[in-house]
Amino acid sequence: MYISTRGNMEKQTSAQAIAMGMVPSGGLFVPETIPQICWQELRNEDYAGLATKIMRLFLDDLPSEILEEAVKVYGDGRFEGANPAPLVDAGDCGILELWHGPTAAFKDMALQVLPYFLASSMKTIGLRSEVLILTATSGDTGKAALEGFKDVPGTKIAVFYPDGGVSPVQERQMITTGGSNTYVAAVKGNFDECQTAVKKMFSSSSLKEKLSRKNLVFSSANSINWGRLMPQIVYYFWAYLQAVDRREVNPGEKINIVVPTGNFGNILAAYYAKKMGLPIANLICASNKNNVLTDFFQSGIYNSKRPFHLTSSPSMDILISSNFERFLFEVSGRNPQKIKAWFSDLSSNGKFEVDRETLNSCRQNMVAGWASEEEVTGTIHRVYQNFDYLIDPHTAVGIKVYEDYRRKHGDDTYTIVTSTASPFKFAHHVFNALQEGASVDPWDALTSLSDLTGWEIPPGLKDLSLKAAQKVTRLSSAQLEEYLIREFSLDTCI
Ligand SMILES: *Cc1c(COP(=O)(O)O)cnc(C)c1O
Repeated sequence: MYISTRGNMEKQTSAQAIAMGMVPSGGLFVPETIPQICWQELRNEDYAGLATKIMRLFLDDLPSEILEEAVKVYGDGRFEGANPAPLVDAGDCGILELWHGPTAAFKDMALQVLPYFLASSMKTIGLRSEVLILTATSGDTGKAALEGFKDVPGTKIAVFYPDGGVSPVQERQMITTGGSNTYVAAVKGNFDECQTAVKKMFSSSSLKEKLSRKNLVFSSANSINWGRLMPQIVYYFWAYLQAVDRREVNPGEKINIVVPTGNFGNILAAYYAKKMGLPIANLICASNKNNVLTDFFQSGIYNSKRPFHLTSSPSMDILISSNFERFLFEVSGRNPQKIKAWFSDLSSNGKFEVDRETLNSCRQNMVAGWASEEEVTGTIHRVYQNFDYLIDPHTAVGIKVYEDYRRKHGDDTYTIVTSTASPFKFAHHVFNALQEGASVDPWDALTSLSDLTGWEIPPGLKDLSLKAAQKVTRLSSAQLEEYLIREFSLDTCI
């Protein structure tokens, strides 16, 4: 069963939690108890087998055939190569490559399976409505969600991204999706404003009423939805099993995990993997110049009232990390009263401060650091020079923060950095980092980078500039609701 972080809803089954996406009156669903599993039991499984064993523990009321059907995505060719999440070596750390899916970012690991869970959840709870998935994206979730839900019967998906706040490749990927049930619009303002406007529509009762007259209900493909977070737990077990197989660590020995962080979903999945029993020593939360989380771990004050920076790692340009709420819930002793107070401060004053005890508990569970733009460029360059290995700017943030951590703490524990996107997704930054002083057009950069390094452009990013694109719809955040009403004819009655 699932409970709300704010204690404002009675327990729900997994199907209900996934179908709803978030608690309607604010708050996020978390499992009532965290299941335990012994990693040794998982040896010899392939990725699909591992995913089945882990996710079954969380999906109490979904039929097991659905789970078995869903995990086939990891082996049916949608992910390139035999291993959907290979662990590779890059000098001082292991790198878990999570970008072999159709859209070349780690979001595919979850968004390829979420449509199965959502459809099955709707059926399980006897809802005959169609689902309208609302998604705010800082770049990668949007395309991954569009690909996952494109032409899936019973679903429609609307994606909103910050106008000018995503990379040219990311935007192009989204507007070339096609499909009869996909809607995409650019919203003026930054990602936080976009995400806040989307969350507001979620909780608008007048909008919900209009939807229900059309036999539609809202759900979410963002990592606020438990169905999106859960599949991400699997690859941390997978990473550990590979590290043991490759004799990087002895069986049972603890490892560190570094995660380039934005909305805090990916690192939260690692935290839950640790709670389930995976031998993890330290979790390292890496931010870019939007370093609100680094400051929080220093001071205990979460202050989103600060300049918003557009960086070369746009998927981490976030000042309000939604899933941090789940982490605080866990480390504060699952106290919904505290969460309610903090998050009401955040929404009215843009900040909150936690008590000493909670801060100490945060620090016992996680270390945080950040990297500047110059450091990111330097890291991409250095890693290529030294190890002949290409990384994207998000992954570079992770590696730089790890290097600082290791120097400062002298911790030689085997460490895995999650690589969250293909370097080709941000080819112009990567190319410019390799060729100092060079400056290429975003479209030429993919070919230039491939020519320079001999690495292949991932299939999903090839010929993007040639694909038919829809015209970009531009909206202010105040026009989102109006847009939905118009596109889905919510004001007409039939
Ligand atoms: C989404 C994303 C992130 C941030 O992940 P969160 O789960 O939001 O913390 C980091 N890197 C890339 C490439 C992403 O697409």
